Amino acid sequence: MKARLFPLQCQTIAALLVSAALATAQTRIVPPDNNYPVSDDVQLGRKAAAEARQQLPILRDDLVNSYVENLGRRLVAAIPQELQHREFTYTFEVVNVREINAFALPGGPMFVNRGMVEAANTEGEVAGVMAHELSHVILRHGTAQASKATKYQVGQVAGAILGAIVGGTWGQVISQGTQFGLGTAFLRFSREYEKQADLLGAQIMSRAGYDPRDMANMFKTIEKQSGSGGPQWLSDHPNPGNRSDYIVQEARTLQVSNPIRDTRAFDQVRSHLRQMPRAPTTEDATKNRPSTRRTSNDTRPPGGRVQPPSSSYRTYDEGNLFRVSVPGNWQEIQDSNSVTFAPDGAYGSANGQSVFTHGMEFGLTRNESHDLQTATDELIQALAQGNPSLERPSGYDRVSFAGHRGLRTILQNRNDVTGRDETIAVFSTQLRNGNMLYALGVAPRDEFSSYRNVFDRVVGSLQVND
Ligand SMILES: [Zn+2]
Repeated sequence: MKARLFPLQCQTIAALLVSAALATAQTRIVPPDNNYPVSDDVQLGRKAAAEARQQLPILRDDLVNSYVENLGRRLVAAIPQELQHREFTYTFEVVNVREINAFALPGGPMFVNRGMVEAANTEGEVAGVMAHELSHVILRHGTAQASKATKYQVGQVAGAILGAIVGGTWGQVISQGTQFGLGTAFLRFSREYEKQADLLGAQIMSRAGYDPRDMANMFKTIEKQSGSGGPQWLSDHPNPGNRSDYIVQEARTLQVSNPIRDTRAFDQVRSHLRQMPRAPTTEDATKNRPSTRRTSNDTRPPGGRVQPPSSSYRTYDEGNLFRVSVPGNWQEIQDSNSVTFAPDGAYGSANGQSVFTHGMEFGLTRNESHDLQTATDELIQALAQGNPSLERPSGYDRVSFAGHRGLRTILQNRNDVTGRDETIAVFSTQLRNGNMLYALGVAPRDEFSSYRNVFDRVVGSLQVND
């Protein structure tokens, strides 16, 4: 069974986010609408940062750290008064990997790759990327974007961000799209938000003593180095169009106050970095990190002997979302949009899509306007997009699912990766928060009779927080 294809998120941006007051004045930046309290930014950024520190190799080097920290402080001091959030705590850490990348989490934690500092030609270029990242944080773009997509819970978001960060190369997981709209919401922004971050970043740069045109220069530098991980930052921060032009135009309206001309610190850090052993790739640096979770970045199709489900069960907590007990020999495979429990050999991927042959997947979809059966029909249609031979020979049974009234239906499929016929038990229920929770139990057709009770037992153990 292949993971479902995700329907396009409806993303309407009614508000004109960037409005030029006067042709000669600097652009007035208005933070987009946001349904979440500022404390949510702080809380989920803190959680995701703690995970990031565990999973990523943070550089422990006083010279480099204090350099990036000082640069960050100078930018923070230049945040316009009306956009400041007292609750935010800005931190600046360097990740010892070679890709040209950086990310900032809601509420203030920022991580800058060593490769970013190494690629920059001037301090202003480093400041440019950091000012851009900082602007996303100040304008609360992560929670603003989530406001448009779906409701979320903090634990769930931290998991989504983590999945995005440790998925081998950043963004590999989120680029698959997410039904929560979460991974994308927190590390990858719309073009409107990109333009806001460019313009506010330019304003902050000028107030901090940097020439805003260095930001445009850095984007060119990143583009040029596309061979060594450059495009990742650009795909998370897409060019809204005419990026250089409008940054240069904005720069014309800005006066660089107290310009920084001393380049000694930058030169010193650069030569210090050159003397260190070369930074590893993110993939090499993260693959042997201790992790209780696997992320779905297997690139091979499932294969090998699959052990039957063990009779002892293990309980997993999925953030604040739900608890479930599954056979002890099933692994947890975390995706940005769902979680799958499957035994060794039953999970993998083909043509960029996750595939599993035995086990259960849990996920949420947004369901505000429909009844449960219509929403379940839509889920099955989405599954059918990736599984062309999917059939539903029977109708729906009413069952109890996670303590709620739910539906169960049985699907038949020919798994076009393994070539085997399989049976899929679909469970669904409507949650009070407007989401539909679903579970998919998958087994080859000739083994389904021995899995059926396992699926029922797993579903019976489910406890949901809604
Ligand atoms: Zn951006």
